[in-house]
Amino acid sequence: MIRLKVAQLLVNRPVGSSVDVRGWVRTRRESKQGFAFVELNDGSSFANLQVVIDKSVPGYDQFLKLLTTGSSVRVVGELKASPAKGQVVEVHAAEVHVYGSADADKYPLQKKGHSFEFLRDIAHLRPRTNTFGAIARVRNAVCAAIHEFYQSRGFLYVHTPIITTSDCEGAGQMFQVTTLDLALLAQQKRSLDFTQDFFGKQASLTVSGQLEAETFACGLGDVYTFGPTFRAENSNTTRHLSEFWMVEPEMAFYDLEDNMRLAQEFIQFVLKRAIERCPDDMKFFVDRIDKQVLETVENIINHEFERVSYTEAIEILKNSGQTFEYPVEWGLDLQSEHERYLTEVKFGKPVILYNYPRSFKPFYMRCNDDGTTVRAMDVLVPRAGEIIGGSQREERLDVLLARMAECHLDPEQYWWYVDLRRYGTVPHAGFGLGLERVLLLLTGMTNIRDVIPFPRTPKHAEF
Ligand code: ATP
Ligand code: MN
Repeated sequence: MIRLKVAQLLVNRPVGSSVDVRGWVRTRRESKQGFAFVELNDGSSFANLQVVIDKSVPGYDQFLKLLTTGSSVRVVGELKASPAKGQVVEVHAAEVHVYGSADADKYPLQKKGHSFEFLRDIAHLRPRTNTFGAIARVRNAVCAAIHEFYQSRGFLYVHTPIITTSDCEGAGQMFQVTTLDLALLAQQKRSLDFTQDFFGKQASLTVSGQLEAETFACGLGDVYTFGPTFRAENSNTTRHLSEFWMVEPEMAFYDLEDNMRLAQEFIQFVLKRAIERCPDDMKFFVDRIDKQVLETVENIINHEFERVSYTEAIEILKNSGQTFEYPVEWGLDLQSEHERYLTEVKFGKPVILYNYPRSFKPFYMRCNDDGTTVRAMDVLVPRAGEIIGGSQREERLDVLLARMAECHLDPEQYWWYVDLRRYGTVPHAGFGLGLERVLLLLTGMTNIRDVIPFPRTPKHAEF
């Protein structure tokens, strides 16, 4: 007999057929009439499968003791229409095999309703909860949609390196990669000599694949990279991880307008696919996590994003009558309280902020003719705040070199990046989207540590 997953079984509903299902017991109860009900979940869907086990099933008294919450089991039986409310079909067991029991006195998920903080400390077991199962399925649907979006538009998926020796743009603090024996060096009071290190120079984990992605865009057209990204900032917020996943498309012959349009289409496509593919999981998020979440997502899917220049945004914030913790002044970066005001209060939809002051933006962003701003764009959304940061890139060699000098960067260190402007330079643009920020938006979860399987944050990398 072929094993069926619960999701297949619930969709196909082959009533009357024999089935073989395997999974973990969520709950078990016994009826007075001498049979047991088991709620089985195998991760393939949000819904559990109800299994009815009559005491005439061989070995009933022995396996019943083992069939605790959390135990793993194989059931062979017949699929029947369910007379009870709550499910269309149920399985009537003919054979039950328990792979492993779970001690009811010790199993941490014996009871329901644990806090997310508690579950973070048992990250190896939280995939078995409703919430984390739903998040995992939505995360998967989002990743598939990301590839679908770019593949259907002829973008090439390129892999940019995780270990890098170029201090990428100063996007964030970097984690060092070294094989030097630091303890020994400290003990011997010797200074670090990177020529003796594995790569012969200082190396780090990437904070962005953008610079490398540009090399492919400037030869192959439209590309995207999608992978883990590492930032060592000591920022203990609910929106920052030390290791997160970023999607970075980079497009030759795109200007800032094209970039903004792609960003909007991309976000809308991914959100739409995720809610189409995971309706039961989304229903759970609405019922149990955040009543507004689906409405917010649908609102984003169905409306044009507001485009506001940085200069206009400063005016709006200054005239808002709000008191902010951080100052609002032309030339200062916006804080998340300002971003939230714009996207949640003022416009009630996503906002694309563009043309930021060059003073606090990286060297590679294209300079505007006004001499003070660059062609940067950030996409802000209700709840999650900034989910995209991007720009049109500076393709003019002389302007790029002047900007590097202004930022005290050595063009020698970026020789290959500068070369792209020497040989067949083209206007191009791109952006980075934080996967986990999208998941905050989609699930209504409020802490980014809960939308990645194994969160890494300052002082935390247990699993
Ligand atoms: P923020 O201002 O929120 O710290 P950033 O401006 O430093 O973000 P970018 O360098 O623009 O971030 O990175 C592009 C995108 O990557 C961001 O818009 C965000 O979605 C995501 N991102 C950046 N840093 C983190 C982080 N530490 N954890 C999770 N996602 C992040
Ligand atoms: Mn940014």
